[in-house]
Amino acid sequence: MTTVLLAHERELAAVNQSLEAQVLQRTEALETANLELERLATHDPLTGVHNRRHFDTKLLECFQTSHRTGTGFAVLLLDVDHFKQVNDTHGHTAGDTVLQQLAHLLGENTRSVDFLARYGGEEFVVLLPHTPGGEGSMAVAEKIRTAIATAEFPEIGHMTVSIGVSVWNPADTHAGAIVKRADKALYQAKDAGRNQAVAAT
Ligand code: GH3
Ligand code: MG
Ligand code: MG
Repeated sequence: MTTVLLAHERELAAVNQSLEAQVLQRTEALETANLELERLATHDPLTGVHNRRHFDTKLLECFQTSHRTGTGFAVLLLDVDHFKQVNDTHGHTAGDTVLQQLAHLLGENTRSVDFLARYGGEEFVVLLPHTPGGEGSMAVAEKIRTAIATAEFPEIGHMTVSIGVSVWNPADTHAGAIVKRADKALYQAKDAGRNQAVAAT
């Protein structure tokens, strides 16, 4: 009788152990799936940088922090010059590759504390949470502009970007105001002949 009971007990312990191992395995798989889901929700599938939605969240965060602490931040809005021509001349697939290379270059020319996102089509945005002043942000913009203008893009050769630069203003009543100013400055950069960074006034 005791032998039978002991055998049952051993069997139960083995089943228990196997169940625990299964639960652990499933939990790990779920955690991996959740991380992947989060990455998909916050990143651009083509270039791998943050997406517009994630940028909007980060922008609001910086806006609220600046209102509380007065620290400030800056936004660079970039648009590839004559990108339609790249697609028309070299094809859409080559255009996609160029956007991937551009995102890579932007990553190389910004710091890990900066927030880089694809804003839309061939537009990217860089949020500089630790660069509140206009001079500092223009220096970053100029560094990025030069890096791109001098880079070799295997698919197309060379290309340039125009950049609109703006800094947080304590009088701003909503987070979008800084982007609106950057967008206006970007259009001024285009109007002035492209391949340049313009600071918002
Ligand atoms: P500008 O100097 O005034 O900015 O000229 P542009 O040709 O860059 O401006 P426009 O807005 O007319 O063209 C943008 C082009 O970007 C058109 C569109 O097909 C292309 N584009 C947008 N998203 C993608 C993408 O994901 N992949 C590729 N290959 N092209 C894209
Ligand atoms: Mg554009
Ligand atoms: Mg463009």
